[in-house]
Amino acid sequence: MALLSTTDFPLCINKTDNFSHGRIDLHSHTQCSDGGLSPQTLIDRAVNYQIAVLAITDHDTVAGFDIAQEYILEKNIPIKLISGIEISTAWQGFEIHIVGLNIDVKHDAIVKLIAEQQQAREDRAITIGEKLAKCGFPDAYNDAKHLAGDGSITRAHFAKVLYQQGHVSTMQKAFDQYLGKKGRNIQRAYVKPNWCSIEQAVEAIHAAGGTAVMAHPIRYDLSAKWLRRLIVHFQENNGDALEVVLPQMNPQQRQTMLNYCLEYDLHASLGSDFHHPNKWSDLGRNLTLPEGAKPIWALWS
Ligand code: AMP
Ligand code: MN
Ligand code: MN
Ligand code: MN
Repeated sequence: MALLSTTDFPLCINKTDNFSHGRIDLHSHTQCSDGGLSPQTLIDRAVNYQIAVLAITDHDTVAGFDIAQEYILEKNIPIKLISGIEISTAWQGFEIHIVGLNIDVKHDAIVKLIAEQQQAREDRAITIGEKLAKCGFPDAYNDAKHLAGDGSITRAHFAKVLYQQGHVSTMQKAFDQYLGKKGRNIQRAYVKPNWCSIEQAVEAIHAAGGTAVMAHPIRYDLSAKWLRRLIVHFQENNGDALEVVLPQMNPQQRQTMLNYCLEYDLHASLGSDFHHPNKWSDLGRNLTLPEGAKPIWALWS
């Protein structure tokens, strides 16, 4: 558990805040993208899990921030909400997620990037729908769109549709059989997305006053050589931090990520990547920055 003290987290030092103890979780999702809970229900859950500092980082949208912040103020909930976003980017044929934290959600640069990313999501969703129609699922686009509502449409919505309609036995199988791409192995309804570059994501985050974090570096299925290339590219383009800790990471993986931070002078972030309640992970669980890491919040004082 990441225990907070006012010296650890300078943002907390003001008379109205009382965050002397609690957990920090800087990566989570709501129904504004592919999370299962509304922003309000996520905040309620965060309170129950003793979260003191929470970032909502939905895919290519900041819609959850105002809703959650309003709820926090209305109910006087003792949580410091950090504005956030998880931006999908394209790099060398890989999809790399860049988390932006502590951004001005109304800044022109971020608003413009979100509009472009939403267009890319919509275009991709239409083509995924066409491919799935050819696989025998003619309503997949409409059903996924309905599930996504006003939020960002993601492949997770398509996966859920295929699962709920009994075409696959798990969401993972929807990715394995239709939506996914693993190395050169492209499934039948995989569509190459038109995401922005890492440089563009970092630039927009910085323009909006925020901090740029490479999300879950261990999840890209990269060899050590390619992961290092990615980290070098991120650092050379002014990236600020690596997500060094996710609940599922073992001590050795955490140490490896910390070593990259130290080698490339990057700060360290941590988060659960919570989407919906499940038995493997939850808000704030199993998150502690390893000793020697420079915490990302040191950049926020
Ligand atoms: P998208 O950003 O639209 O490509 O959607 C990807 C989202 O689907 C991720 O953020 C995950 O939450 C979810 N997901 C679940 N299983 C997988 C998988 N096997 N591969 C990729 N994404 C997955
Ligand atoms: Mn997701
Ligand atoms: Mn991600
Ligand atoms: Mn995420």
